[in-house]
Amino acid sequence: MTYRVLLINPWIYDFAAYNFWARPLGLLKVAEFLSQFNLKLFFIDCCDSFIVKKYGTGKYSYQIVEKPDILRNIPKKYKRYGISLDEFIDKLKEISHVDLILITSIMAYWWYGVNEVVNIIREKFPNIPIVIGGIYATLYKEHAKEKINADSIYTGQIEDRLIDNISNFGIKLKRVREQSKFWWQLGFYNKIPYAPILTSTGCPFRCHYCASSLIYKSFEQRKIEEVINEIEELYNMGVRDFAFYDDALLYKSETHLEPLLREIIKRNFQLRFHTPNGLHARFINKNVAQLMKKAGFKTLRLSLETVNIKRQIETGGKVTNEELEKAVFYLKEAGFLSQDIGVYIMYGLPEQSLDEVRVGVDFLKKLKVRIHLTEFSPIKGTYYWDELVKKGVIPDDLDPLLTNNTIFSELFSGYSKEELQRLKIEVNQFNLLL
Ligand code: SF4
Repeated sequence: MTYRVLLINPWIYDFAAYNFWARPLGLLKVAEFLSQFNLKLFFIDCCDSFIVKKYGTGKYSYQIVEKPDILRNIPKKYKRYGISLDEFIDKLKEISHVDLILITSIMAYWWYGVNEVVNIIREKFPNIPIVIGGIYATLYKEHAKEKINADSIYTGQIEDRLIDNISNFGIKLKRVREQSKFWWQLGFYNKIPYAPILTSTGCPFRCHYCASSLIYKSFEQRKIEEVINEIEELYNMGVRDFAFYDDALLYKSETHLEPLLREIIKRNFQLRFHTPNGLHARFINKNVAQLMKKAGFKTLRLSLETVNIKRQIETGGKVTNEELEKAVFYLKEAGFLSQDIGVYIMYGLPEQSLDEVRVGVDFLKKLKVRIHLTEFSPIKGTYYWDELVKKGVIPDDLDPLLTNNTIFSELFSGYSKEELQRLKIEVNQFNLLL
């Protein structure tokens, strides 16, 4: 018997969103895994509607929607990013019937979109089991259980117990193929303007604000040959922009990224690599920088987060100011321009003053790199979440909608709105002049 399974990536519900090479890679990996079994897979990516811009990035289509009650007093427009409601319903109609529905979830403050999808599905497929997985489900299991009308909240990775979970709904899985198909072979997307690449999972560091170790139990690097074959297949299909999704791409690069890049250079692929997740500046030396340039890295993002030495050490010690300076030096020496090199610094960290952020901005100005101010958003289970709860800044049951990075610092950091806005304008003007 062949069962019919529908996989859904819900809409983003947010105040702002832009597609920087986003794809629901976790859900696509689930689809790859399931492709070995007696299942017919259907796939709806609600976010697959954007105008392609530079290097495959994109401006999402959106509709303005009513805010959930808890956000009612926020004076900003709330939007549903991705395909229209009608398109979604038409897609469901085309599928007609299924035996199981798997829905992913990414940022916790997008749970409202997951809920909207579930409510629509319940009407269309009233008695079909719904499983919610992904990052929000893993980190906020109790919240998801309470708020979302699903049959199961799946936490963790595929190998943990996905087969058992699916079998619980009466689906008898039988292997019909020796090897899984790749996500791009499953016909889910009409166009592939860019591809996500994941060469490793997890991170060997434990920063106070990050949930990487809560999502992946250990740090694992994939075999280089596997990654190269993936890139080659996609390249032969015409894909030219590749975004690394790794948390620690440069870790142990002598045995991981460097051989991969040497092989890319040897095969003379004319492609562009992008690193939306910040890179560890400490691992960028002359050799790595030159290989990155030759292999086609285009958009670089380095993570500094804060220039304050005490906070750097306390939060996990992943980088120092000197290491960042050296990395920028090597990258420029290898031929990267100031506008190619972006550095993330955060604002709104617990007890972080706006002056500390300003010192960071001045430090980066001197290095002549693009400055990316990023808003701190606390994640349940992390050290900083617990600190904020202990200090009474947030309750432990804070609705994840309020951790949205567009509003969290406004609500909880105590910064002057005007001063923060002035700093943002100053940073934008500096970036434009690079
Ligand atoms: S180095 Fe980056 S990915 Fe790793 S724990 Fe720190 S913030 Fe997270």
